[in-house]
Amino acid sequence: MTQTNPQMPSFNLWTEAWISVERPGGGLEALNLWQTLSEAHLIRALYEPSPLVVVAIHRLLVAILQAALRPQQPSDLAQIWRGGQFSTEKLQAFAAAYAQRFDLFSAEAPFLQSADLGLQPAKGDNVKPVGYLLSEQPAGTAVTHYNHTYDNRQQFCSRCAAKGLLTIPAFASSGGAGIKPSINGVPPIYVVPGGATLFHSLAASLTLPAYQPPNFQPQYAEYDTPWWEHEPIVPKKGIVRRVGYLHSLTFPARRVRLHPRPGQAPCTRCGQMTPWHTATMIYEMGESRPDDAAWWRDPFAAYRPPKEGEQPTPIRPVEGRAIWREFVALFLPVNRDHRPVILNQLTDSDRIRNVLPYSRDAPIPLRIIGVRTDMKMKTFEWQESGFDVPPRLLTDPDSAKYVEKSLEFARQCDNISKSVFDKWFEKRFQSVKTAMSQQYWQQLGQTFHHHIQQYSAQADAEALLRAWLQQTIRQAIAAFQAAVETLPDDGHTLRQRIEAVNRCRAGLYGYLNKTYPQEETP
Ligand SMILES: [Zn+2]
Repeated sequence: MTQTNPQMPSFNLWTEAWISVERPGGGLEALNLWQTLSEAHLIRALYEPSPLVVVAIHRLLVAILQAALRPQQPSDLAQIWRGGQFSTEKLQAFAAAYAQRFDLFSAEAPFLQSADLGLQPAKGDNVKPVGYLLSEQPAGTAVTHYNHTYDNRQQFCSRCAAKGLLTIPAFASSGGAGIKPSINGVPPIYVVPGGATLFHSLAASLTLPAYQPPNFQPQYAEYDTPWWEHEPIVPKKGIVRRVGYLHSLTFPARRVRLHPRPGQAPCTRCGQMTPWHTATMIYEMGESRPDDAAWWRDPFAAYRPPKEGEQPTPIRPVEGRAIWREFVALFLPVNRDHRPVILNQLTDSDRIRNVLPYSRDAPIPLRIIGVRTDMKMKTFEWQESGFDVPPRLLTDPDSAKYVEKSLEFARQCDNISKSVFDKWFEKRFQSVKTAMSQQYWQQLGQTFHHHIQQYSAQADAEALLRAWLQQTIRQAIAAFQAAVETLPDDGHTLRQRIEAVNRCRAGLYGYLNKTYPQEETP
């Protein structure tokens, strides 16, 4: 695209195409930062196979927009939303000042890397394979057999190298001695507002200062140094005491320097070629906050209310636990003090609500993305889910209570099924019980997605709950029945199995009648 000296390595994210997007008609294209932001209203969504890369790019775009548009009060957000697209004038002003800070291979100020490290490895350098940058896998893949992440034959095109670098601020995790996670700790689940176009999604993700970290040290906000204003050097194990919001979105938790190689070589991640590729890099511990730093409340993360004297901890994916089961903590007003602040902003003020890029009373599309790690940088599995959440559930505590009850009932039904199973079948069938529970939650997840969408402004919450209770019991029985059928024949007559299913059914309806006495069992 751009004319550069072929001897000089260069890949500027502002001018080179690297972001995969989907157009409204379904076509896919690779765009640069300028195009992605100025044409956001003509883009359906970011389109990347890895949801972690989607979150990473989303956060970079948000950081740039916050800096370029500087919304200070609700009327500023209203103006942006009503404009229907991002101001090219303001984006141009940003580019004039900072575009040169987005070159991956700049000698003096490489993007999200440390310029004091050379473009070629020096003697004594601890050189790492570039695969360290993108080591995530979708949950359920055979990680141990097919993950070539640590294979030193990996080589990344410049696009994939950029995407890998960008996952550091949001997803860098613990990695052995002295390697600390990024600003949000071991990566939380991120909640990202969606929308009809990328413009809607990004506009709904812009925050006013009152909703931004550093929430409890607002005096540090003025020290904000997003990457493009940050010194182009990342200190090894540097402790940063003053961090602003845009600094956090571009947080250099690792001290990195990519080693560019000339010549086209197919990327081992995406198969494409760019004039420069990279196979090795320096990858060390970079910035972190002090261990005793105040709670950092990322606007897109949810937290658990803390025990006394402790700080809230982010909600993270848990093995074997479907992400939708965190619905209450992620979205509902009962967790207002710890749910993603972006939801508080969306629902706090009628002035904001009225100009939202979502039509009034229409469900708000929210995407949830999380990554699970074994804390040793070995296993990375991502989980992704999406919800269209009716505004009523985000705002009305009484309606939200019904959803809490729904989930609690589902949890108890799971416990009842498991305890009946334990009573009737031997210990050696534990794995069947575990599979039964997983099957139950997976099936119920689909029912739940449909269920919450019925909370329109006029819907009768009591009736919705009653319907849910019946559906849940039916699904618990079906999962129990299916599990029992997979047991080997030895020692278990057909009659015993039928009896166990009957006991399970009786236990579930017994619990229903005790908890909701007004219910009539069918
Ligand atoms: Zn690639």
